[in-house]
Amino acid sequence: MVRLNMKYFAKLFISFFLIGVHSAVYDFSYSSPNFRDRKGINPRILVLHYTTSCNDNAVNWMCDKKSQASAHYLVGNAGTIFRLVDEKYSAFHAGVSYWNGIKNINDHSIGIEITNFGYTRDESFKYFSEKEIEKCAYACEKKWHPYNACQIDSIISVCKEIIFRYDIKPHNIVGHSDVALGRKFDPGPVFPWKMIHDHGIGAWPDMETSLNKVEIPSSISVSWVQNYLHKYGYDCPLNGKADSKTGDAIKAFQMHFDPYTKNFGIPDEMFCEKLARLIDQYIVE
Ligand SMILES: [Zn+2]
Repeated sequence: MVRLNMKYFAKLFISFFLIGVHSAVYDFSYSSPNFRDRKGINPRILVLHYTTSCNDNAVNWMCDKKSQASAHYLVGNAGTIFRLVDEKYSAFHAGVSYWNGIKNINDHSIGIEITNFGYTRDESFKYFSEKEIEKCAYACEKKWHPYNACQIDSIISVCKEIIFRYDIKPHNIVGHSDVALGRKFDPGPVFPWKMIHDHGIGAWPDMETSLNKVEIPSSISVSWVQNYLHKYGYDCPLNGKADSKTGDAIKAFQMHFDPYTKNFGIPDEMFCEKLARLIDQYIVE
């Protein structure tokens, strides 16, 4: 018992240390009623989202019972981290979803929303100046609003604490697009997955080292693609057919790991190498 308490205090101390390093600002003044009991399940997945909005009004929306939507945290435009649901509860952020054999992602995860408009569309001109729209980057057949440096600093900070608290594995740090194939596209391909990986958050293929247990296929087959996407965690069919759901899984993978591909939706050589390396680094024992 004494040992357990010591471990808890050590974790608490390091958590405060991590907060201090990144000086993230938390706002605990909002609270969402949209949550339920976790049924004793420990979170082991971390899901990142964007709000599809240009300002932090999503905080109010998620605190409204009518929305039936929430997340544990929302990282606002200025980097403020709004805590909306206590981590001990299941927040309503993932909806119909699947990852790594798990279907009710909400009960098994922590959800973080980030204020971001997503991809540009006619409405963008209502909310953003032409200069701001010019900053949007082309990726995966759309133009996307960027995340700002304050937001990224706060995301790194809050994610580090969560990963530490629950020992969340790198390949279980995912986007909503990874767990809701064809239905969701957040946090979008311009979310800096590589950068946060360089800060110790999430998976990223190491293209330099030699592979240990997985081979990159010399010719690409549908069954290899399906098998390895499924092995990594995606809800990819295993039927040997190049169907639309397999296409959705390929696109989700590229939005996360190869966002500037010119072959969006096509499993090219880069796709296979990245997928093989991720399996080798994070999945195969
Ligand atoms: Zn989402």
